Amino acid sequence: MPFHVMLIPTLGCPSKCTYCWSSDVNSPKMSMETVEDVVEWLRLFRPGEAVTFTFHGGEPLLAGAEFYEKALKLLSEGTRDRKVAFAMQTNLWLMTPKIARILARYDIPIGSSLDGPKWINDLQRSKGYYEKTMRGYRIARENGLDVKFICTFTSYSIKFKEEIFNYFMDNGLTLKLHPALPSLRSEEPDKWALDPREYGELLVYLLDRYLENIGRIEVMNIDLLCKCIFTGHGTVCTFVDCMDDTFAVGPDGSIYPCYRFVGMPGYVMGNVSSHPTMEELKSSKAGKLMQRYKKYVDTHCKDCAHINYCRGGCPYNAIAPYDGMIKGVDPHCVAYKHIFSEIIDRMSEEMFGSSSLETTTFGPGPMSAPRKGIMSLMFKEI
Ligand code: SF4
Ligand code: SF4
Repeated sequence: MPFHVMLIPTLGCPSKCTYCWSSDVNSPKMSMETVEDVVEWLRLFRPGEAVTFTFHGGEPLLAGAEFYEKALKLLSEGTRDRKVAFAMQTNLWLMTPKIARILARYDIPIGSSLDGPKWINDLQRSKGYYEKTMRGYRIARENGLDVKFICTFTSYSIKFKEEIFNYFMDNGLTLKLHPALPSLRSEEPDKWALDPREYGELLVYLLDRYLENIGRIEVMNIDLLCKCIFTGHGTVCTFVDCMDDTFAVGPDGSIYPCYRFVGMPGYVMGNVSSHPTMEELKSSKAGKLMQRYKKYVDTHCKDCAHINYCRGGCPYNAIAPYDGMIKGVDPHCVAYKHIFSEIIDRMSEEMFGSSSLETTTFGPGPMSAPRKGIMSLMFKEI
């Protein structure tokens, strides 16, 4: 469902992760009137179109059980004319059986954050984080919620990539990774940020380890990157023109292009209380900036072999560090080119070359104990 509305009930968060770039201790909490405004706004905004609501933060569970009891009812009843799905990104610290049961009623998949074994995780995220998240994880699972973890790789944890991969595999957890971004609210924004070249090398490392261990772990990023190439278009927001389909609503009802911009006044596109149209959002200063980025990608990336399924990467990564000026595409371009080219090379080798890797779909290779090759990921259902 491409149309995506991120709801940010608060930018507050009880954790103090070292590299955090989005929490704000003084953040207000979203009121039920604002949720009602969201419903009213959507009555005329892209009517009938399927929508996914993702609760994000800060830490969305700070809003509490009563908020979700009422908000989910309002949102699902108020959008009956369309297909609706919900999701949540939370550190799980504040998960209770009561909240878990409410979320389970709406079949809400949970994304949480864990940076690997306890000693790495707590060093990066804060002392005691691991135990609190695991406690919430158990409650979520006991109440039927599906939880997947996102692992943030930083300039520090990259040194322990093998330990982190093994941790996820040995514990039966799906690995989805995220490179640490420069923390624009910190005095040392790049301290924990993952260098784009190292990010590219990490993706290739994970591709290798994944292929060695097929059936024992899922590495979501690799699956999605393979699908991008296989289908010829992006399968995750980073690799599509997200500005046409994604919006975020902050605690006070302000509308932004994405949760990453929430709390940055220069990126406000409108407010749900005035029920803006698509044209009004697009003609706001932030809306025009996002459209300019799309055009910039059309020009700047026009000769890149990967443009159709990359689309210049994430606009936030490209624009936010330069105070709203477009000085280039997503700095992770280096990483994207590296992994896309690697996947294509391996795919070509398996299909047409003399690769020693067997593919499950193109017949047996020369090895007596064949391994699964990259084509098995291309055809994998995700
Ligand atoms: S700005 Fe970046 S994170 Fe946000 S929707 Fe777009 S691609 Fe995704
Ligand atoms: S890989 Fe780089 S040059 Fe190619 S489309 Fe993506 S951002 Fe543009």
